[in-house]
Amino acid sequence: MINTEIEKWLRTTDSDKLEELWKLADTVRLDNVGDEVHLRGLLEISNYCCRACAYCGINCQSDEVTRYRMNEAEIMEGANKAAALNYGTVVMQSGEDYGFSTEFISNIVRRIKQETPLAVTLSFGERSYGDLKAWKEAGADRYLLRFETSNPELYNLIHPKLNKDDSRRDRIAILKELKEIGYEVGSGVMIGIPGQSYTSLAEDIKLFAKLDLDMIGVGPYIPDPNTPLGAGSVRLEIASDEQVPNSEIMTYKVIALARLMCPQANIPSTTALATLNKARGRELGLMRGANVVMPNITQPKYRIHYTLYPNKACLTDTAEACHQCMQLRIESIRRKVGQGQGGRKK
Ligand code: SAM
Repeated sequence: MINTEIEKWLRTTDSDKLEELWKLADTVRLDNVGDEVHLRGLLEISNYCCRACAYCGINCQSDEVTRYRMNEAEIMEGANKAAALNYGTVVMQSGEDYGFSTEFISNIVRRIKQETPLAVTLSFGERSYGDLKAWKEAGADRYLLRFETSNPELYNLIHPKLNKDDSRRDRIAILKELKEIGYEVGSGVMIGIPGQSYTSLAEDIKLFAKLDLDMIGVGPYIPDPNTPLGAGSVRLEIASDEQVPNSEIMTYKVIALARLMCPQANIPSTTALATLNKARGRELGLMRGANVVMPNITQPKYRIHYTLYPNKACLTDTAEACHQCMQLRIESIRRKVGQGQGGRKK
């Protein structure tokens, strides 16, 4: 698909045409990754962060956040819970937290690989090549790092350097490093960032294919009034008819187009989407191209502080409640819970 075609889909409001897109994406999903929905247990291991992302509720400049960092026993307890709930993967995510040393994470990865049958996915931000390599050597399987937007002007505005010595790294270059090191690589964008045009979102979707991503996670941008972007103090001005809305329907379009562009990728129906439509968002994402969900296994006492944006879905649930809820949702659309680690089909 060329950019103008992608952009045409993004702009369309014709409900018959959209039905066509949903059907096409669902057929491509079935033909390429089947009916299984893979479950990844999401463990939010720290909300400390050294970055000043203008969109994110846990950015280092927010004094609204109660910070936490799990210890080794708590992380292992989370991983064991993922295994007990029969999830094929544990996804450890955090703010970019250098309170976790290279060796601490390597040791955790080694322990999870030795003590459980889980695949290990990491999502710790822009760590150095040396860290990424060490963690792969310790046994990590996958790494998630969204590039957020492929428009450099918008990216630099919403992901600023704190000072001239800031260690901020080029995310697209990191994604290439991750491939070279041997990870399965996941990336994605937020949809409807203020200043994001249809043309730039179409470029993002093209880039998913160009980077040959194994996983593609997309979700709506949800404004947090306690952040510079949410409060409106940071903004890239564009014409109002160019601005992509941060809507539920736009999120389904991007999921469907990602499926058409990358037929074999693992694509989650995300928490941010479920936040916009708590009743049916997860299911509709799965029916329009997605094949993965990431039930949260973070202990409630910590997860209430992983506040990336307001009204986050599942914020006060237990791991067991999320597990049951996801299973019922998957069965309600006549899909099957995936078995095994659910890596990218080769
Ligand atoms: N620190 C790691 C990183 O930056 O990749 C992982 C954690 S970061 C909080 C995970 C993702 O949350 C980001 O890639 C971003 O897309 C998403 N996120 C943060 N703030 C958001 C918001 N206001 N609305 C929607 N998604 C948001």
